Amino acid sequence: MDLGVLLPSLIPSLQSVYVLVSYFVYLAVAGELLPGKVIRGVVLSDGSQLRYRCNGLFALTLLVAILGISAKLGIVSPLVVADRGLELLSATFIFCVLVTLVLYISGRSSSDKTSSLKPHVSGNLVHDWWFGIQLNPQFLSIDLKFFFVRAGMMGWLLINLSILAKSVQDDSLSQSMILYQIFCALYILDYFVHEEYMTSTWDIIAERLGFMLVFGDLLWIPFTFSIQACNCVFDNEPVHRNFILLSSWHGWWLLHNKVQLTVPAIVANCFVFLIGYMVFRGANKQKHIFKKNPKTPIWGKPPVVVGGKLLASGYWGIARHCNYLGDLMLALSFSLPCGISSPVPYFYPIYLLILLIWRERRDEVRCAEKYKEIWAEYLRLVPYRILPYVY
Ligand code: NDP
Repeated sequence: MDLGVLLPSLIPSLQSVYVLVSYFVYLAVAGELLPGKVIRGVVLSDGSQLRYRCNGLFALTLLVAILGISAKLGIVSPLVVADRGLELLSATFIFCVLVTLVLYISGRSSSDKTSSLKPHVSGNLVHDWWFGIQLNPQFLSIDLKFFFVRAGMMGWLLINLSILAKSVQDDSLSQSMILYQIFCALYILDYFVHEEYMTSTWDIIAERLGFMLVFGDLLWIPFTFSIQACNCVFDNEPVHRNFILLSSWHGWWLLHNKVQLTVPAIVANCFVFLIGYMVFRGANKQKHIFKKNPKTPIWGKPPVVVGGKLLASGYWGIARHCNYLGDLMLALSFSLPCGISSPVPYFYPIYLLILLIWRERRDEVRCAEKYKEIWAEYLRLVPYRILPYVY
């Protein structure tokens, strides 16, 4: 790896800072001004409920339209992200460090007693900075947790689109790239169509906002989930080669390992995506609907409910985290277009497997504490964690 080329490219240029700041300003303004369903979050331990304006789909569509028109008019280059991947990554990293230091300081000095803002201080600086101090800190009345995850998911799509533009420009658009782009775009759009479901997820309801979450949302999601796509472009550009090498994953993997997908392979890939989507969306939807109204039928039958609080039918009667299974299948479907000759493009599903197993264990501990004997009964009824008969 040529460090002489790599290191200077890690220093964010003014333009990359400008891109990042413009992006955040757009999201902040669009999030506040654009119309969208206002959803009440889960009831917090002090009985309060936060409100979330779910206008992400509108904000994303408008942003893509603005960028598309600006690109057509020559105001913005569609390659601005693809050409500045490494700089944007380091600018984002610096932002994550700075913003979490501010969160640490403001969290420690807060005397707020509400569940969302009450400081949780262990006294260990690294621990408190990493895991965060407050549950739902705000800035100018913007819920930062909701804002950052939105920025990460949209950023993933924008990186993909920029890489797509690059591959079209380089005349290297492949079947694999098209499949990857379609699957990811559908996944991200679906996320925003169902943005309100996010308000009852573990990250929003249980995780405090520290470096772990901010880094995960702003840097990890957009920059690592797009690895397969990065494989497809950046020929003969040392900076980008080093970006890929530094990321240690693929080094233009698809570009230099042209994958010839057979029709059965494409069909199988689509099948994994569709089944994964059905399980992922179905499970998350069932839980969300159940939380709103525990009497809503599940798969056309009255729900099986444990202790009046836990759903034990539908996907939640097959395994205790079927939603994770669906997500893992989706992640796999994003990598399958790269073929199976190398583990390199499988970074995302492998990472997600580790993350979700760890998360599932933490969630179980939390649920066991919260629901006590009800949870024990649920464990008896639904013995599998993620994959029925296996795990
Ligand atoms: P869940 O949406 O599964 O939420 C877990 C919570 O749901 C529990 O703490 C409990 O909360 C409630 N719950 C658990 N079991 C039941 C039940 N049987 N009936 C009713 N309520 C139940 O977890 P996550 O927030 O972790 O995940 C949400 C989605 O996000 C998943 O699909 C996951 O795959 C995805 N995800 C994706 C990541 C990625 O990097 N791609 C990373 C993390 C998540 P309560 O106390 O409210 O009852």
